[in-house]
Amino acid sequence: MDAPLAQFCSNCGVRVQNPAAKHCTKCGQALTAQRSQVMVVRTEKNPALAAFLSMIWVGLGHIYNGRLLTGLAFMVVYPVVTVVAWFGLFAGLAGSVGGLVAFLVWPLLWVWAAASAYKGAKRRNAEGG
Ligand SMILES: [Zn+2]
Repeated sequence: MDAPLAQFCSNCGVRVQNPAAKHCTKCGQALTAQRSQVMVVRTEKNPALAAFLSMIWVGLGHIYNGRLLTGLAFMVVYPVVTVVAWFGLFAGLAGSVGGLVAFLVWPLLWVWAAASAYKGAKRRNAEGG
């Protein structure tokens, strides 16, 4: 986590480690005037947490990443696929193409959602939120 007083040079963007520094260590830009503008704290997303949330509730990891619609879509689609998969199995419909496909897609969707949440958090951090 970044220290709350971390400063970033408004000229070259380099992070100034010393919170008491008055000038950028790289280009010499004065830092005091821009101090209020660099106080915006970026919220880093934890990819492992996003994947974990997605595993306990598919879609939750995406909502954690700030992708509300994608998360809600997962929360709707996943239970439907789950019901179709298990209904197909218990009703003896697993031999049918639809039941079989649902039963194969079901665990893949779970894994894929977790991987997607993980990558989404990493991508979000790389893009700077
Ligand atoms: Zn600088």
